This record gives sequence, structure tokens and C-alpha cells, in this order.
Amino acid sequence: MDRSTFLHNHLSMYLENREIVERPSFRRYSWVSSPAQQVWQERLNRIRFALFHMEVHAVSRGMMPVALLSFNGEELSRLSSLCLQNQVAFVLAHERGRQHFDGCAAVGSFRNLQNYETAVRNADIHSVADLLGYPDCCYQFIKHVTECYALDDLTLPSYYNSLQMDTPDALNPEKYLLTSHSEINFFWRALGLSLTPMFPCSLNCCSAQAYAIKLLEIGREIGYHAEIAWLTEALRWSLSWTALHGTAELKLPIIKVIYSTDFSTEKVQIELPGSSFPDEGAYGINFPFKQAPRKALSETKAVQNAIVHLSQST
Ligand SMILES: [Zn+2]
Repeated sequence: MDRSTFLHNHLSMYLENREIVERPSFRRYSWVSSPAQQVWQERLNRIRFALFHMEVHAVSRGMMPVALLSFNGEELSRLSSLCLQNQVAFVLAHERGRQHFDGCAAVGSFRNLQNYETAVRNADIHSVADLLGYPDCCYQFIKHVTECYALDDLTLPSYYNSLQMDTPDALNPEKYLLTSHSEINFFWRALGLSLTPMFPCSLNCCSAQAYAIKLLEIGREIGYHAEIAWLTEALRWSLSWTALHGTAELKLPIIKVIYSTDFSTEKVQIELPGSSFPDEGAYGINFPFKQAPRKALSETKAVQNAIVHLSQST
């Protein structure tokens, strides 16, 4: 089977429903436990801020002409301070697929922002992608799937495009081993954490990975060593993603996120075993949680009670 037939077989269900349902945009999350929240809430906030700073710095150094940054509430004032410090301008912008956030800002030089606004106004998506630094393969892929399937959420097309055709991958499309290129693991975009400006065309796109690695180098240069260590660790964790009736559920070892996605009447469930699991990750029967260590029979409560009972009756 060729790749475009494979994609069509898995994505055509979205075409059937796309006119039917007006979808409200939402995103909610819940921590798996208080210890997980105590450790990781602060870390995720610090990673978010580090990513803002890295992208603003990357723009000021000319790595890409414009960066598009989604923000929530109070993050806007921090973002505007960062732009001032780095002598770059920003304007409020709109970008498809970022509806889970309060707003979005385009960051760049005055001239590049003018070019960006002109390209958006003219619906010149090639120039927009160029200004945002999209690799050509990712741009071509995004253009293809948005034109053919009119999807807002590119999680599933990018995931399916990661599977190698004519291998067990494609025959068993519910599973994908997150062994390499974890820097471009796009599932964390639901939490606003990403090292690329766009959905990569696949989980093994070398151009997107090169972009992510360059951004990480910038982050280390400006001192975000701890944040980068947490982020690169988290990107390697196992995860599962489910979607049905316009709601996606992302399960990570420390947090679950529910958010709006494209409408489908068929349930999609995928699992990505990773190579790392955090100390604060939850125990559970189902993937991606860790199985609780089994107690020796002699340590179980029933046996302990029986021993007490026996010793009392002798
Ligand atoms: Zn690509």
C-alpha cells in the first residue's frame, strides 16, 4: 500500500463529519497525584517560559524571521518583557490549530512582522511557512493534509505519516516506539510545549529534528540547563492518545489532558512506549502507567493477618 492511500484510509472518516459539528474549543487537565503536581507543575511552567525566551532569542539572532507563540493569561506580560529585552517587536496574531490558548503573538523585527501580516492577509501560506521557518517537507505535508482533509489538529496525520509502510508498523498502526527523534514528539503541543514551530511531518523528520536541536543549543547558551533536561526527559516518556467525537485525551505518566480535536465517529487509540518514566509517574493497570510492584505472598495483608491470628491463638 502506498503512503497516500494509507493516509486516506485512516483520515477519510474526518471528511464525512467535517460539516456536521460546530466544535467548541476547550482544554482541561488533571494531575495523576499531588506528588506529581508538586514536582512537575513548577517545572512545566519554567519550561514554558524557557521556550518563550529561546524562541524570542532565536528570532533576534536570525534563526527564523518570525516566531508564533501561544500564551495564556498572565504569560502575555512576560512575553512582552522578553521581546523588549531582546529588542524584537510583537503583534497579536491568529493561527489555526492553536485555539486552546488565550491568544497568540507573532514575534520578529518590524519589517518581518509586516511581511508576515501581508502574507497572512493574502492567504499566502507558502510565505507564512517560510517566515516561520518551516522545513519544506513539513510545509508540503501540512499543506497536503489541510487541503485534503481540512483538519485543525494535525496529531493524527503526522502520527500516521511516521509509520513505515510495508512493515509491522503500518500493519499495527496503534503502536509506535518513541526511540529516536524524541525532541520532536508533538503530543506535548497539547500542553504548549514544543521545540518546533509546526507539527513535524512525522515523528522521524530529520529537518524538524535539526530545528529542535538548534533551539536546544540556544537554550543551553542562555542558561536553561535544568529546563532543557526536564523537557528532553519528558519528551521520552510513554504516552497514549485517544480521540472520539471531537475530544482527544492525552495520557502522560504525570498528567492527563482532555482537549478539543477534529470530529470523528470512530474511536482512535494509539500508544507510544517511551524510554523513560518519571519517579512521580502514576501506578496503574493501563498503559502508559507503571504496574505496581508485586508484593511477595508473605507480605500481603491477608497473610500478615493470618500470622497475627495464628500467633494469638497459640
Ligand atoms: Zn518534515
